[in-house]
Amino acid sequence: MATERPKVLLQQHLCKGCGRCIESCPKHAITLGTEVDQASGLVPVMIDEEKCNDCGLCISACPEPFGLMREEYELEHPEHLFGERERPRATPRDVPPHDVPLPRCEPMVLKGNYAAAVGALLAGCRHVFGYPITPSTEGAELCAKLLPKLDGVFLQACSEVATVNHMYGASGAGVPTLTFTSSPGFSLMLEGISYMIGAELPGVFINVMRPGPGLGNIGPEQADIKLAARGLGHGNTHAIVLAPSSPQEMLDLTMLAFELSLKYRNPVIVAADGYLGQITGRVTLPTKMSVPGLPDWAVWGDAEHRNNLINSIYIDWADLEEHNRHLSAKYRLMEETEQRATGYRHEDAEVLIVACNIPARMAKAAVAELRDEGLSIGLFQPLTIWPFPIKQLVPLLGHAKRLIVVEASDGQLEDELRLALHKADVTGLEIHHLRRMGGMLPSDREIVAHVHQLLEVSR
Ligand code: SF4
Ligand code: SF4
Repeated sequence: MATERPKVLLQQHLCKGCGRCIESCPKHAITLGTEVDQASGLVPVMIDEEKCNDCGLCISACPEPFGLMREEYELEHPEHLFGERERPRATPRDVPPHDVPLPRCEPMVLKGNYAAAVGALLAGCRHVFGYPITPSTEGAELCAKLLPKLDGVFLQACSEVATVNHMYGASGAGVPTLTFTSSPGFSLMLEGISYMIGAELPGVFINVMRPGPGLGNIGPEQADIKLAARGLGHGNTHAIVLAPSSPQEMLDLTMLAFELSLKYRNPVIVAADGYLGQITGRVTLPTKMSVPGLPDWAVWGDAEHRNNLINSIYIDWADLEEHNRHLSAKYRLMEETEQRATGYRHEDAEVLIVACNIPARMAKAAVAELRDEGLSIGLFQPLTIWPFPIKQLVPLLGHAKRLIVVEASDGQLEDELRLALHKADVTGLEIHHLRRMGGMLPSDREIVAHVHQLLEVSR
């Protein structure tokens, strides 16, 4: 006598809507869904019970262990699905990263892009995705050479859009992830960065900025300060933006980027420029490297972590507002805690040059020359463009009443400065600027001449 088959059940909240079961069904009983499941934020398939004969072929096709299951049988005997595997536990473990000491070694001479790649590897990154674009490509190239030897993965994606989504996936699994790109490629990644911010996923983006608009050329420009500081895709988005000015800072700030990215569960942008990617410089390696852990929020393949969900969709409007308030509180904490700056002969200066990236190097040379002439001038160099280091700047404004913003863009850095001054209620400053674009950089000679002219006019 034929026994009745146990019924096949769809677990709506565990179905990812991938549709693999649809093709497996000989009765054409499964169709794509139309309703978002409130628990998962995804759209599960639908089973027509009239057509279904409970053959169970769809269970084998489903990549989700509990997406489809037999009523009674599998519910009572999950070991038939998973062997001896444990069922997920309620509280995933947080495995923190740890440092291991490195032997001391002689300083190296490294190209900026290589220094950033070495920094990423020392920060524990073993998952790098990218689409080649000058002047950033050497970073990805070095990762492609080294990662297979380090049990890591370098994947050349089919586009920048694919790149950022690969990063989303890898980061969702809790591993540190990185890409190298340049301005046109960075523009293409912005939507995905918004998704990563919404889903609270870490990830480091090395943007070796080049001039625009459009394809522009492959020279240096600080063309994406506005994008990185104010325009990371749609919605309520922010990310810490670090601004190196030497190969050493390319390494140091890339390592810092991984630390901050994990700390805040948020992408971090390293905004370099075309010269910085290409120039070589002396680089001292750190005395320790990082071994990543496994964050408790990661969707990892073990029993503890596989019930986690990474998601940026909030169908309920009140829920999304609450999520945005949570993100905003995180941004305020970053603003409060992560402002960073350095400088050169700036402590007592009456005139301050504000510059970062490669223009800061030219400004430093100009300051040295102008100081030799007896002028009270210094360099204030933001290491974070967002948050702008207003806390470090304000104490200098007791004696510095005149600022000169030197930049390779049409005022993008100055806009950040002015906004930060406005928010800090600082008024009564003279703000001047020297700007170059298109791959042209402000030279030290130009800066010296600009300062001479300024002081001459005001005499
Ligand atoms: S149990 Fe068989 S008939 Fe029913 S939906 Fe699955 S594959 Fe189709
Ligand atoms: S294969 Fe599994 S996860 Fe994919 S749509 Fe079907 S039930 Fe859902």
